[in-house]
Amino acid sequence: MNVLFAASEAYPLVKTGGLGDVAYSLPKALHARGADIRLVLPGYHDLLRQLDAMRIAGWLEVRGSERTLGVRVLEARHAAYPFPLWIVDCPSLFDRPGNPYVAANGRDWPDNAERFAVFARTVALLAQDALGLGWRADVVHSHDWQTGLVPAFLADLATPPRTVFTIHNLAYGGYFPHADFVRLQLPAHWWSPEGVEFHGGLSMLKSGIVYADAITTVSPTYAEEICTPEFGYGLDGLLRSRRHKLTGILNGIDTEAWNPATDPHLSAHYSKARIQPGKRHNKRALLERFQPVDDALLDAPLLGTVGRLVEQKGIDWILAAMPVLLAESDVRFVVLGSGQALYEEKLQRLAQQHPDRIMVEIGYDENLAHRVEAGADVFLMPSRFEPCGLNQMYSLRYGTPPVVFRTGGLADTVVDADAPHCTDGTATGFVFDQPALAGFLDAIRRALDLYRQPKAWRRLQQTGMRQNFDWSESAGHYLSLYAT
Ligand code: ADP
Repeated sequence: MNVLFAASEAYPLVKTGGLGDVAYSLPKALHARGADIRLVLPGYHDLLRQLDAMRIAGWLEVRGSERTLGVRVLEARHAAYPFPLWIVDCPSLFDRPGNPYVAANGRDWPDNAERFAVFARTVALLAQDALGLGWRADVVHSHDWQTGLVPAFLADLATPPRTVFTIHNLAYGGYFPHADFVRLQLPAHWWSPEGVEFHGGLSMLKSGIVYADAITTVSPTYAEEICTPEFGYGLDGLLRSRRHKLTGILNGIDTEAWNPATDPHLSAHYSKARIQPGKRHNKRALLERFQPVDDALLDAPLLGTVGRLVEQKGIDWILAAMPVLLAESDVRFVVLGSGQALYEEKLQRLAQQHPDRIMVEIGYDENLAHRVEAGADVFLMPSRFEPCGLNQMYSLRYGTPPVVFRTGGLADTVVDADAPHCTDGTATGFVFDQPALAGFLDAIRRALDLYRQPKAWRRLQQTGMRQNFDWSESAGHYLSLYAT
């Protein structure tokens, strides 16, 4: 089965969030199960400089915004991938430094409509073997709004390949004014409330939902949630009408990159059979990055978090919880993240006020992310909504029980340490039900209580570390969806 996998980011070449992880690990899992994969990515500045070997596969003329662009398609190899990558090389759109979606001032690149329309058109052409490479897609699997037009372009063909569209986060709709629709000369028949039109503009995400043969999202609970007004961003009605083709498939994680027994980022290795002294060693190393460490500091519970500093992730709840918990217990915090300036500044201010108790690193740091997962005692992930979430799965695997709100993938992956689950040995973390600070604080207090009971805590850690979050089951689901 020939599967063309189209995404706007893929680890380790370019990654801003979970999409990048999935676009790396899912196609690899599919390849391991016999699918013939091509992964197609935009030729961003930083990405082009990381490729190992490449050749020009050909040139395509692709319609852009009131112009036609010459697009060079590269066939490249990279050590992380066992199959060829196709790179859409169009320097005027992609060869610029920095983030794939936003400029240095934090605003969307002004030509995002053209950038991702050209990318989608190119993907659709490659699926049909427009370059005569002798490879034609049976299935085209595209992801999020950046590739939402792909199923629409393909639906217009006489014999289209099967199209699968995955929603990683419904909050990002890829909205553009009607003027962009006109300038891009998109097919006029798409322009209707039954097509890509959304409140007078163009929604690339909606295009994917409308035109794909199958829609997936990244956890079963999120698949239910997005069909409700509370989580649906105005698309819940459409999603309810497409319920028959919507499936929730839990993301897997890369269990090689995220394995505390072999992780090269860690200062000591450990496993569920022998958590200590390895984990404590990592705690010391993590703390030492920020301050001198004595035994009292090492005994105090360390609450860690890694992620985008945006409201979705409940960072405001974490900020509000900090002073309360500092006053009533000996906890320490370590935070790694970047995002909205407001939250970055608040965190830095709190860290300055409590340098020995709140440690903050603003930025994106893969190495430190691994060290926080291993070195913290408890992982905080109070997302208001969470399509799947990867960090809570990493933290479970690293023996760092997470505190999460019961939503989306968090609800599907963490079992609350309430009395029944502690008794039957299935508990893995702390789940709160009310989206409010009080619920979050209560869950953290429960975590701190259990942390003081070493035997019960070890059992909780070991149950979490035993969970299997690899791709085997989910990759099988995708393959059967492709074959339907
Ligand atoms: P989302 O995709 O919504 O950002 P996920 O939990 O699904 O959230 O995935 C986030 C991924 O990005 C994880 O692999 C996480 O470790 C990583 N990540 C997020 N922020 C940072 C950061 N500041 N430094 C390093 N890794 C980060």
